[in-house]
Amino acid sequence: MQLCNAYHESGPRIGLGQGDQWFNLSAYLARHVDDFPWMYAHPRPTMLDLLENHPNLLADASGWLEEMRSKTGSRAFAWPAPGRLLAPIGRPTKIVALGRNYAAHAQESGNEVPQEPVLFAKAPSAVCGPGDDILYPAGVKRLDPEIELAVVIGRRARRVEEAEAMTFVAGYTILNDITARDVQRSHQEKKWPWFRSKSYDTFCPMGPTLVLPDEVTDPHNLNLTLSVNGEIRQRSNTGMMIFKIPLLIATISSYMTLEPGDVIATGTPEGIAPLNVGNLVECFIEGLGTLQNRVVSG
Ligand code: MG
Repeated sequence: MQLCNAYHESGPRIGLGQGDQWFNLSAYLARHVDDFPWMYAHPRPTMLDLLENHPNLLADASGWLEEMRSKTGSRAFAWPAPGRLLAPIGRPTKIVALGRNYAAHAQESGNEVPQEPVLFAKAPSAVCGPGDDILYPAGVKRLDPEIELAVVIGRRARRVEEAEAMTFVAGYTILNDITARDVQRSHQEKKWPWFRSKSYDTFCPMGPTLVLPDEVTDPHNLNLTLSVNGEIRQRSNTGMMIFKIPLLIATISSYMTLEPGDVIATGTPEGIAPLNVGNLVECFIEGLGTLQNRVVSG
C-alpha cells in the first residue's frame, strides 16, 4: 500500500492506494468521523495527523483499503488519479541526514569511511514535493543533487533497541539531499556546521508517495539511480549502505526522540556532479517510483 498527499485548493487530501487503484482516504475518514475522534480536532488531517493518531498504520490502512474496496457505496471514495502530488510529509519535526553512509561516496569526496554514523540536520522548511522547482540560489557556485532512501518514522521512538527498530518505520520515500557544495566546503574549512549548505528553501525534494512496509520487502536491497536530463549519474543499491536502518534508528533515538513523521535520509552513493539551471533531476528507487524536479534560478 501507498499513501499520497494530493494537492487540493481547499487543503491537501490523503490518498490510499495499491497498484493503480487509489482511494480518497480523507473523505473516508471524514465520513466515519465517529470512529476517529481525533478527527474532531483535525477535520482536514495532514499526513502528520494521520501518523500521530495511527501508530499501527499498516494494520489500520489495510482495514480501510479492504472496506473502501468491498462495501456498498464505497465507490464514492475511489479516485481515478490523485492528481498533483505534494511531499508526503510536508513539515516533519526534523530531518536527520546521514553523511558518508556509502563507502564509495565517502572516498570520492576525499573522506575516510566513518566508524560510526555521521549525522546532520536539514531544515524542515527545505521540503518541497514531486514536480516542484529546485531553486538555485544566487551566490551559490556549485549545487549537487544526492539521491537517498528516506525512512519515515511511524511512532514515537526513544532509546529503541535495534531488534525492535523496524517496527517504528511507517514507510519509505525518495529524498534528494540538495547541497550547496561550495558553501559546505568553505564552512567545513572554517569548522562550521553543514546546516546552511543543506537547508536553503527547496533543498529537500521528497516523494512521490509514502510506500508502506508491505510493499518494501527488503529496504536494504533496492536499486536506485539518479539521472540529470536523462543521463544516469548515480547508480547503486541500498545494500551498499554502511550503517543499516535498524542501527540508525537505535543510534539516533538514543540521542533524540524520533517523532511520527520524522525523516531519516540514509545517505547517498557515489556519482556526485553539479547541476545547472534548467536541468531535470530524476531520482528513481525500485518500488518507490520516481521523484522529478527541475532546477530554476532562485
Ligand atoms: Mg546526503
